[in-house]
This record gives sequence, structure tokens and C-alpha cells, in this order.
Amino acid sequence: MKENIKKASEIIKHSGRITAFTGAGISVESGIPPFRGENGLWSKYDPKYIDINYFNSNTKKSWEIIKEIFYDFFTNAKPNAAHRALAILEEKNIIQTLITQNIDNLHQEAGSKNVFEFHGTSQTLICLDCSNKYNYRDIVFDNLPPKCSNCQGILKPDFVFFGESIPERANRQAFLEVDSSDLFLLIGTTGEIMPACMFPYMAKQNGAKIIEINIEASNYTGSITDVFLKGKATEMMSELIEKLGFKINL
Ligand code: ZN
Repeated sequence: MKENIKKASEIIKHSGRITAFTGAGISVESGIPPFRGENGLWSKYDPKYIDINYFNSNTKKSWEIIKEIFYDFFTNAKPNAAHRALAILEEKNIIQTLITQNIDNLHQEAGSKNVFEFHGTSQTLICLDCSNKYNYRDIVFDNLPPKCSNCQGILKPDFVFFGESIPERANRQAFLEVDSSDLFLLIGTTGEIMPACMFPYMAKQNGAKIIEINIEASNYTGSITDVFLKGKATEMMSELIEKLGFKINL
């Protein structure tokens, strides 16, 4: 592993433009369960509750589950050392862009600025009628569904439901990074969620190197990954950033 950390740090030092690409695995150590897998949310909840068609016709029922999953306890999560390491690498201008599939806002809380949320965010709610946006902290969840104080329209979390399209801004940026990045740093993403999972493959085809951090081998390992750092995101990022000469201050 020491050898791989060294290899990864050498690639990073010799890359011009670097894109970090993160998924659920980076937030697990902050206490946010992944959606998929043995102890994932979908083993406990039916994913239909965040399907846009189900939501539109069963709004109250959907909202009861959404509140329980996303607003009762997720909101207590704090960024971990891996989130912080990425923010430091951005501050040092080593990483230029961060594309995340997570909706938990932990990258921003850790200090990352150039964050593109491929699946939107749970931090804001949007009015389905007038498109007014609200921070979830300003919303009282006693009466579901929550309503817009402007027009009484129904509020929906501003993350991508099944059946909805990817936010334009994040999608455009992902294609731009595929074209211009020398390195994709994958953290906690196993390449199972379409269409997000395609970007590392496209980047690789365009000549980018791929460094991957995951606790287990993924679809990327053995196909496009140049250096696989097998382990927890916090531990691997701590070692990597130290090798690059920086320290994590949480
Ligand atoms: Zn409204």
C-alpha cells in the first residue's frame, strides 16, 4: 500500500488538471449510510418514495419517508478527514474541480468551493409552482408536505429523484472535465449509478489517469484504474495528503 500511495502522489504531482469524483463511500464515515448494498437505505426503504411519479401522486406519504431519511438525522452529519483533505487540495490548487454524486453538502461544509452536485442537494427545497428555493433549516416539517410561503405550492427536495434529469450545470461541467482533466481521483464511488458512472470511463478514453479509493474493488478496478488505494476514504486520503506534504486540520 505504501508503494501505491507513493505512485498516486507522483501521478498527482505530474498532473496539470485534476478532477475529484466522489460518491456515497466518502460520506459513510460521517455516518451517512449508502443507498445500495447490504446495509444501504434501499434495504430498509422502498426507493419508490423518491421516484418523481410516485412523489407527484403520493406527496404526503413520500414526504414522511423523505423527512425520516434526509432531514431527521442526516443533517447532523459532519465532514470527515477525506472531505477536508479534498478541500485542502483545492486550496493548494492541486484539485481544480470536485464532482460529487452526494447530496449531503459535506464537501462544502469541509471548505470545498468548486463543487458540482451531479444529483442536486438536500440542503435546499424548491417550490414546484414558483421555483422559489428555501434552505431546509428555515422549513418547519410539522405539516407535510411543506409548502411555499410565497404561493402555497408544494416543496420538493432539490435533489434528483428517480425519473428526473441531471442538473444542467453539473452535467456540463462533468463533460468539460472529461475533455480537459489529466487525472480523475475517484473516492467512494463504485461505478454502478448511471449516468454518473460513465464519466471516469470517458475521461480514461481521453487519456486521463485514474486513481481510485474504495474499501473494495469496484467496476473501475481492473478495467480503467491506474492506481487502486484499497481502504477507508479517511485513511487513504490522510496518507495521500501527507505524502504530498500537507496536513489535515479538522
Ligand atoms: Zn411557490
